[in-house]
Amino acid sequence: MLSVDEARAEIRALVRPLATVEVPLGEAWEQVLAGDIASDIDSPPHDKSMVDGYALRTADLRGDATELVVIEEVLAGRVPTRTVERGTTTRIMTGAPVPLGADAVVMVEQSTLTPGTDPPRVTLQVPSAQIGQNIMPRGQSLRPGTLVLRAGATIRADDVGVLAEVGRATVPVVRRPIVAILSTGDELVSGAERPGPGQIRNSNGPMLAALVRQAGGEPAEQPIVRDELPALQAAVARGLEADVLVLSGGVSAGVADLVPGVLAEAGVRQVFHKVHLRPGKPLWFGVAPRADANLPPRLVFGLPGNPVSSLVCFELFVRPALSVLRGAAYQGLEADRGAMVAEFQHRGERPTYYPARVATGARGELPRITLLSWQGSADLATLAQANALAHFPPGTRSYVAGEEVEFLWL
Ligand code: AMP
Ligand code: MG
Repeated sequence: MLSVDEARAEIRALVRPLATVEVPLGEAWEQVLAGDIASDIDSPPHDKSMVDGYALRTADLRGDATELVVIEEVLAGRVPTRTVERGTTTRIMTGAPVPLGADAVVMVEQSTLTPGTDPPRVTLQVPSAQIGQNIMPRGQSLRPGTLVLRAGATIRADDVGVLAEVGRATVPVVRRPIVAILSTGDELVSGAERPGPGQIRNSNGPMLAALVRQAGGEPAEQPIVRDELPALQAAVARGLEADVLVLSGGVSAGVADLVPGVLAEAGVRQVFHKVHLRPGKPLWFGVAPRADANLPPRLVFGLPGNPVSSLVCFELFVRPALSVLRGAAYQGLEADRGAMVAEFQHRGERPTYYPARVATGARGELPRITLLSWQGSADLATLAQANALAHFPPGTRSYVAGEEVEFLWL
């Protein structure tokens, strides 16, 4: 049986980014950029005032206060028409172009308008001003050709603003993976129904769809499939139209666990079945080649049906694969180290991922890990209280309070 690291290496070796597409800027957030982006303009486009105030010649300032004649008023979006000459000044608003002749702007808070004069006059209560004061020179932020974002960057909200600033109505990104989600099981009913005798609600389908969305994929959740061959075959055939097919249930050793057989029949090559892990041991992984060999193969994950197993397998194996497909680095949940709050006896030969609450410590102190009272891989409600998975390597042994342990942030 493969270890977690071996299984991850197998997947990693088979996954490549999807093709590039041009998307409208409004859809670019959180997508991975597929090309370098350069500015097409100067920013700012002109020497601009950074305050509301008076544009003037610093050489005109004398003593503690200087009175100047106001020759013009320039608002943002307008352009000055007059040159500031000796003894004159232009009233200017934030963002407006600085008029010719002026070499500084003094803030309006440092001025007093002389009442009742025509043309208006203003007294500036400053002994002096620095040349360039309150002026942002043209092109100081960006020049035409300045690189603003590199291929491979995940586009954040502020990046969207920069892309708009440099005139990008559309941007090249790596296509988001479409992920078909198939929940299998004779016992399953939808969340809208009240389970009858022997039935449970399908929590994996909606949970996996949310996880896929969070990981940057596009979930395509399919109707619940019964544990019978024709239904499963048809659903798998449909699911294999997606970039990734994620099934839940039907991969263990029960009589109704038909998934591996159906996948093999559908032409999916098994890469591995079962991983040395708790919860999540029955995990199945395979690939289906595409007609176009330049495209990465379709990935097929058969997750164990128990919801906590499903989630742990998604986090350890599916999320990093989706990350590569969408053009980013191979990356899963963030790992960290913390100190156990109470002692714990770990039993068994499999590495365990255990639902925990982690509180960040004071400066210089390790985060504190409190294990939750977890009833095993069907106990999703306890997992929902967790913000981390504590990781215990294989082997029966006691952990004492204060001992350092690895965990993953959920
Ligand atoms: P299986 O992997 O099909 O043997 O399922 C293992 C356990 O997980 C069984 O108790 C199932 O009832 C449960 N299970 C399977 N699929 C789901 C699902 N979609 N939502 C919640 N529980 C499930
Ligand atoms: Mg089942």
